[in-house]
Amino acid sequence: MASPRVVILGGGPAGVGAARELARRKLGAATLLEAGAHYGGNAGSFEFGGQWLDYGSHRLHPATDPAILADIRALLGADLKDRPRHGRIRLLGKWIHFPLKPVDLLLRLDKSFAVGTLRDMVAKKLPGRAPEGDTFESVIRANLGSTIADEFYLPYAVKLWGRDPKELSGVQARKRVAAGSFGKLVRKVLNAVPGLKPPGAGRFFYPVRGFGQISEAYAAEAAKLGADMRLGWRMTRIERPASDSAPWRVHAEGHGRSDVIEADYVWSTIPVTLLARALAPTAPQDVLEATQAVTYRSMILIYAQLPVEQFTEYDAHYFPGAKTRITRLSEPKNYSDLGRPKGSTILCAELPCAMGDAVWKMSDEELGQLLADDLAGCGLPLPAKPTQVFTRRLPQAYPIYLMGYEAPLAKVESWVESVPRLLSYGRQGLFQHDNTHHALAMAYGAVDCMQSGRFDTNHWGELRQVFAKHVVED
Ligand SMILES: Cc1cc2nc3c(=O)[nH]c(=O)nc-3n(C[C@H](O)[C@H](O)[C@H](O)COP(=O)(O)OP(=O)(O)OC[C@H]3O[C@@H](n4cnc5c(N)ncnc54)[C@H](O)[C@@H]3O)c2cc1C
Repeated sequence: MASPRVVILGGGPAGVGAARELARRKLGAATLLEAGAHYGGNAGSFEFGGQWLDYGSHRLHPATDPAILADIRALLGADLKDRPRHGRIRLLGKWIHFPLKPVDLLLRLDKSFAVGTLRDMVAKKLPGRAPEGDTFESVIRANLGSTIADEFYLPYAVKLWGRDPKELSGVQARKRVAAGSFGKLVRKVLNAVPGLKPPGAGRFFYPVRGFGQISEAYAAEAAKLGADMRLGWRMTRIERPASDSAPWRVHAEGHGRSDVIEADYVWSTIPVTLLARALAPTAPQDVLEATQAVTYRSMILIYAQLPVEQFTEYDAHYFPGAKTRITRLSEPKNYSDLGRPKGSTILCAELPCAMGDAVWKMSDEELGQLLADDLAGCGLPLPAKPTQVFTRRLPQAYPIYLMGYEAPLAKVESWVESVPRLLSYGRQGLFQHDNTHHALAMAYGAVDCMQSGRFDTNHWGELRQVFAKHVVED
């Protein structure tokens, strides 16, 4: 039997992982369309001034499935570095090491915060506590107490997702907050104690040519094994098969040309909302309306090039406080530890926003000033005027789990699932707040389902249960 033809939409980790696995296991003839100029999607990289930069802080977490990690190691070889984590959180005007360290907490934590947290921990053991409820706020308050909620998670949530934490679903707290209870928090602190440290704790993997090197390596391997990898090609419309035996017709534009690609399967990693809107004949009106209620948070990345060797020794700074508009600042040079280029470093600040809002419309100059003001406000002023400030914009950075998001999402998903030989997966395709290793696990899982030329939807259903348990690593 001839290999099924699979068109993959999107060349982020979920797309390139599937293209490579289909080709390696000879289970399908893949054509991958990636609209951008490089592979990796939000987990991609680009070069500027002799330095590799990511779209915000990206690390490969040791929680990666061992088989996938072994594949990444084989693809990258010595280019994949094992690095210690060394970040800081700005909490009530003080810097706390992240990952958390017991001694640092004892010496530096704001006393009122420490006392409040201890009081909350004791109160949690007492009978008659408030029920957990189902909003982001109530889940965090019930599990981590009001001190951590008010000073850390709730203001951070407002910045990350742009909503009052009472409007956000409890699912966002359960999926997004890895230290989601006092027990987990204490375990995370103890992870830093020699002797109690599990393997990988406080460490991460990082490629020498930026995080995007992982996706680039998968894409290069897929191409070598025969996949048709098309960079700079955007899917514009998808004609559904007219019958069970008819092919899909995927319309695409790239490099000043247009093309129609016929396929037996379409595997999409683009936002499920955009997929539903791209299909012809069009989805029913109620499905199209439901896509409007499934929303993603956008993000601007502000890069500032400084004429100094190093800004700080830290890889990342986290800013949960309401007064600081950016959520995180990373110094990419400290991730790969290559010390290149000499005499300059580039900072990358993450500024969540909504596409088209006042922040989204700010000029690079205004955003550079915002960054300088935010850092000065935290006692971390820029040591020199930036030689360059430039930005990148991510339209879909984080899924927003608003209260009641499940109903419109289910409507869109169940319609997409009802279309034969169509698969939506990956972070955007499943509207899931995931890490790269999760997106890769979905890609490998999709290929596991492709047996004897047919896609096993029952097995995919089982895998969906596993994906639903993914919890984001920070
Ligand atoms: C600020 C930030 C920090 C993060 N930090 C980490 C981290 O430290 N560690 C970690 O593991 N993960 C991290 N993540 C998550 C990681 O970026 C995602 O898990 C990963 O990018 C998901 O891969 P994906 O392939 O599912 O989706 P995406 O990366 O979103 O890829 C989708 C692709 O589809 C393409 N596309 C869209 N429309 C079309 C079209 N019409 N035609 C063709 N192509 C199209 C896009 O260009 C994109 O390349 C972070 C995410 C963000 C936003």
